[in-house]
Amino acid sequence: MPLVSMRQVLDEAAKGKYGVGAFNVNNMEQIQSIMEAARETKSPVIIQASRGARAYSQDRFLYHLMIAATEVYPEIPTVLHLDHGNSPETCFSAIEMGFTSVMMDGSLMPDGKTPSTFEYNVEATRKVVEAAHAKGVTVEGEIGCLGGIEDGHGTGLDGLSHLTDPGQAVEFVKATGLDALGIAIATSHGAYKFSSKPTGETLKMARLIEIHKRLPDVHLVMHGSSSVPKDLQDIINQYGGKLKPTWGVPVEEIQLGIKNGVRKINVDTDNRLAITGAIRKVFAEKPEEFDPRSYLKPAREAMKKVVALRMTQFGQAGHANDYKPISLETMANRYAAQPVAV
Ligand SMILES: [Zn+2]
Repeated sequence: MPLVSMRQVLDEAAKGKYGVGAFNVNNMEQIQSIMEAARETKSPVIIQASRGARAYSQDRFLYHLMIAATEVYPEIPTVLHLDHGNSPETCFSAIEMGFTSVMMDGSLMPDGKTPSTFEYNVEATRKVVEAAHAKGVTVEGEIGCLGGIEDGHGTGLDGLSHLTDPGQAVEFVKATGLDALGIAIATSHGAYKFSSKPTGETLKMARLIEIHKRLPDVHLVMHGSSSVPKDLQDIINQYGGKLKPTWGVPVEEIQLGIKNGVRKINVDTDNRLAITGAIRKVFAEKPEEFDPRSYLKPAREAMKKVVALRMTQFGQAGHANDYKPISLETMANRYAAQPVAV
């Protein structure tokens, strides 16, 4: 089947009351890990690429790898999503290239680190919604700013300075007509999120629940939601790595989020850790190896394991065949029938 609209995948997730992991990729091995995990667990898939990933893979390679994924795994509904588009132009180029979903992150200015105004965010996001929906492409927006910096995105602050205001979130959704909303509830990008295990209070889960109460039909997105498991950190450090102790977002808090409207969960760090640990292990144990396949195969397998586990924990496992894909044309007609209220 061709790449599908993220809106459809998230609508189905809402019906089934589960979450869908959105995993970042830069190369063939990462795409293969995710697709293999999806086949094993019978899961729908969201694969996302940041601006950095698009530059690294030169866009066309990424696109054709994704087409290969849909050919080799035809039974899996697969979304290609732009992570943190920094400007309407970045989103337009992604739509042009064949992404079926884009994130317009207007919470920050196009430099990807300066917090913007509410008015700027509404204007940029709405512009993208108009262009994207005309082609049946899904739009994720963000209100409030995340902490940390990854691929040039995030404020570099602690993640607490610009939490999402529930009232503003309601206004933002009404004014933009977006499909999914990224919220800031003290999560941050990168491996170093928390210096001890966070509780629901550290994570501002009450705020998430409040946002969901006021926007029950909006698909919420948790960014920076790797769990940064200790066993993966340990493998890296055991084989010569030097990670400092760190804590991510506990899976049980993500599951509480899923009970309260979270439909998309962004995970990147966990997969990076799995890949790096597996490669370090080969280098340490078999220093005579020099065939890239001898370390990329175990790396691919290690990432597949983490992804399959998350797919099961988020509840998307078993749902790949629940529905037939809706074409982007049909999605575009649906959007046209329900214009955004001015
Ligand atoms: Zn993010």
